[in-house]
Amino acid sequence: MIVVGLEGTAHTLGVGIVESPDKVLSDVRRTYVPKEGIHPREAAQFMGENFGVALDEALDKAGAGFKEVDLISFSQGPGLGPCLRTVATGARALSLHHKIPLIGVNHCVAHIEIGRALGKMKDPLILYVSGGNTQVLKMRDRRYRIFGETLDIGIGNMLDKFGRTTGLAHPAGPKIEELAKKGTTYIELPYGVKGTDLSFSGLLTSAEMEYRTGKPSLEDLCYSVQETAFSMLTEATERALAHLRAREVLLTGGVGNNKRLGEMLSLMSKEHNATFSVPKGYCSDNGAMIALLGMLMHEAGIRQDLKDTGVRQKYRTDAVEILW
Ligand code: AMP
Ligand code: MG
Repeated sequence: MIVVGLEGTAHTLGVGIVESPDKVLSDVRRTYVPKEGIHPREAAQFMGENFGVALDEALDKAGAGFKEVDLISFSQGPGLGPCLRTVATGARALSLHHKIPLIGVNHCVAHIEIGRALGKMKDPLILYVSGGNTQVLKMRDRRYRIFGETLDIGIGNMLDKFGRTTGLAHPAGPKIEELAKKGTTYIELPYGVKGTDLSFSGLLTSAEMEYRTGKPSLEDLCYSVQETAFSMLTEATERALAHLRAREVLLTGGVGNNKRLGEMLSLMSKEHNATFSVPKGYCSDNGAMIALLGMLMHEAGIRQDLKDTGVRQKYRTDAVEILW
């Protein structure tokens, strides 16, 4: 079965073509780089302008044409309204023109499913960390239930905002990771864990205040931000792991690219005799994960009429019944 997956929830336009859960034929990504924070209208315009070329490139790389495509899937939400609507409109047009079934999928569930497929995991405890989302989840009664989440901003947002204050280009996560490697002195910052919930806004404000004093080096600050925030994430994940007696830990979402976070979670998992996995190369937003989830839903017998394909800006992870 050949599925084209279209992603466009925030800054990345992704077109992925997948043949089976572990066979990705192509994965084209184009990322809008904002001067400041993401501007929804500009991001949506970027997606519209790049849609056709990205699609052609993905089909080319996969060596496929629409004649071979069995299903089109797209990110229905959550995300920025203008971006979601642009990509959904493109998806509907393709579906109608080529007479191929269309399915809208939950972006967060897609991050989880690609991790589960590549890590060959059955029932993992999941730490999902991206720009806007920070959640600790596990399947219960056919839904990915949220056992812990951020009470204010997402971890990626926190890193990107800190980057903006300190003059790092967007997205700041990878740059902070590089600078943190050169840090030597830990500066104490607010540690916001409440049970399995987290809070990053106090940590952000304090780190920005420290920066404005001009005293600590940016390397030390990046190191301290990472050590504090990632310890918080590891503590919340460990608490959920112990309560839920999980045997597997999955890290996914854009911040999952960070080696230091992976190292902390991997060590913690080992101490609990749990296996640890991260979908290398597929943590960031991409179309392949959207195609994969569309395929799983289609194979489980789920179908959508055109009228059910409206975008859902606040589409919660636990709103999806997992039938596969
Ligand atoms: P996503 O929306 O899932 O693609 O995630 C985007 C977020 O991941 C942004 O906030 C980035 O700053 C963050 N990110 C990407 N790479 C890294 C990294 N190596 N370390 C920390 N954060 C990262
Ligand atoms: Mg994402």
